[in-house]
Amino acid sequence: MALIKLQNVEDFYEIGEELGSGHFGQVRAVRERATGARWAGKFLKLRRSVSSRLGVERKSVEREVEILQCLQHCNIMALRDVFESRAEVVLIVELISGGELFDFIAEKENLSENEAIEFMKQILKGVGFMHSKHIAHFDLKPENIMLSDKHVEHPHIKIIDFGLAQRLTPGEQYRSLCGTPQYIAPEVVNYEPLSVATDMWSIGVITYILLSGMSPFQGDSDEETLRNIVTMNYEFEDHYFNQTSAMAKDFIEKLLVKDPSERMTAEECLLHPWIKPLTRKQAANRSRSSINMKNFRKFNARRKWKMSYNMVWACNRLCRLQLLCKTSAKEDRDLRSCESDQEDTDTKPASLIRRRLSSSS
Ligand code: ATP
Repeated sequence: MALIKLQNVEDFYEIGEELGSGHFGQVRAVRERATGARWAGKFLKLRRSVSSRLGVERKSVEREVEILQCLQHCNIMALRDVFESRAEVVLIVELISGGELFDFIAEKENLSENEAIEFMKQILKGVGFMHSKHIAHFDLKPENIMLSDKHVEHPHIKIIDFGLAQRLTPGEQYRSLCGTPQYIAPEVVNYEPLSVATDMWSIGVITYILLSGMSPFQGDSDEETLRNIVTMNYEFEDHYFNQTSAMAKDFIEKLLVKDPSERMTAEECLLHPWIKPLTRKQAANRSRSSINMKNFRKFNARRKWKMSYNMVWACNRLCRLQLLCKTSAKEDRDLRSCESDQEDTDTKPASLIRRRLSSSS
């Protein structure tokens, strides 16, 4: 377990502006007093009692810290320090100032598949490293793929948010109903054992969106999205994929496979001809193809809108919870574990409430 300092974080770091926020707190820029170096501080409110529905359980924070400590890789957000007070834990992490990869791409005029592949390679390297340590992220989605600096010629990918990540112990099964509907694998929806292959499905979904601006399983409601996932109801509509290479579609098809053991691993992905062409013809096909920018920009604008909507929804819910604190603890074991893709409902469907539970067996 990481050494968690019981000192006051403000004695060591000057707290600056807010950089972002999540379900359990804020991420703020911080400056190390001793060196002047800039970092980010993730402030996580701790759950006060077992029956409380607010804040994150200490053991979840410990898990996130322990996992981040093992993951020292150039494509994964680095952890520097951890402080704990009575009410919160502060993770001091590498400052990632380039914003989200999808926002960076949406600002571009055009993006060739070749350029997209340079980003995919870095994501795969980070994920492959994580998987080699038997750690699965379980929340891979565009919001968690950032750039360290967007003003350099070749921006560097950083994977963030290990709040749902798990170290998988060989011989033990892990099941969870966590994640964001659009990106979760069929085994999550079906409450079957999860593995590192669960992340590879999410990479298939992210690649599909990156190339077309369409989300492969998105339905009009979360229930419909989940149904589309378990029935594998997706296709490459010509209208959205007319600029996409056949190799890119093959790459996605080898990830969106229902049986997790049949999915490509991160290492296999890095050797797929779309990522690593073997012949000149394959390389030429790739460089002639591009991503559907018009549709991608639409997707991204809609995604940002939903994120703001979800944030307002979560704030309203938090206020209501604070007022109605006496409700049962059973229903909501982990607020962070599920985020709806729906925009227009105040009541979460039964399947999603169920999906907040998670367990290891
Ligand atoms: P969630 O609600 O998705 O579980 P969370 O509470 O675990 O979120 P993060 O996803 O880790 O929090 O961070 C929330 C936001 O803060 C991110 O979407 C990102 O915009 C910003 N952020 C996180 N880490 C950093 C960082 N190291 N540098 C800069 N900004 C960051």
